Amino acid sequence: MTTGDINAKGITIKSSRELDLMREAGRIIAEAKLAVKNALAPGVTSLEMDALAEEIIKKRGAIPSFKGYQPAPHMPPFPASICFSFNEEIVHGIPSERKMREGDIVSVDFGAIVEGYHGDSAFTAGVGSISDTAQRLIDVTSDSLDAGIKMALIGSRLTDISNSIQIYAESKGYSVVKEYVGHGIGRELHEEPQIPNYGSPGRGPLLREGMVLAIEPMLNVGSWKTKVMPDGWTIVTIDGELSAHSEHTVAITSDGPEVLT
Ligand code: MG
Ligand code: MG
Repeated sequence: MTTGDINAKGITIKSSRELDLMREAGRIIAEAKLAVKNALAPGVTSLEMDALAEEIIKKRGAIPSFKGYQPAPHMPPFPASICFSFNEEIVHGIPSERKMREGDIVSVDFGAIVEGYHGDSAFTAGVGSISDTAQRLIDVTSDSLDAGIKMALIGSRLTDISNSIQIYAESKGYSVVKEYVGHGIGRELHEEPQIPNYGSPGRGPLLREGMVLAIEPMLNVGSWKTKVMPDGWTIVTIDGELSAHSEHTVAITSDGPEVLT
């Protein structure tokens, strides 16, 4: 056991069979993401997007990860199959009758379970034509995810991912949400370790082959601070400025990071 493994308590290493099931969950999520992305349009409701994603997930024999998900006893179970967050909403927005409008940006988060194994992935996209400010936020958020994924290598330390995301995002003028983080994933939607999107490099567990991580930067135009809305789920920026979210489930392999979603 190397020193790094002291902090690796609770992190699961997936077998090749388990990885295959997670690849299948990832493929289903990728299909649902594409369908929803193509269906985003002014006048369409987030509930319609939820129905579309749920239909694809179920048709492919998987189970939506988020529906009924209850991380703590004081929280209401999540009522839908996707999270759908508008503009200043960062994550965990609940699908509703709210209609998308031209110029909105929306963050959509997907989870699916195949034979007990989860996948988790999110994107932010514009509705119709959006401002340059909004487009740049979306692009930098997606690129900051790529910067993190590049560090998901055997022998890296966990916070090499965190640091890479933060350095990239802040170099482009955005703040990084600190109160919500990425996570290990497998038989549970949220496993060890937590993966902050900020912090010094070279800390935390050594990354090993067979670990699977959901890496998910959330970037804000204004302050990094957040608050929870009265529905108990929706997280918004404290200053009402725009936020974007980008997430992939990534396996650490001997060939480098493998994006499953
Ligand atoms: Mg997610
Ligand atoms: Mg996640």
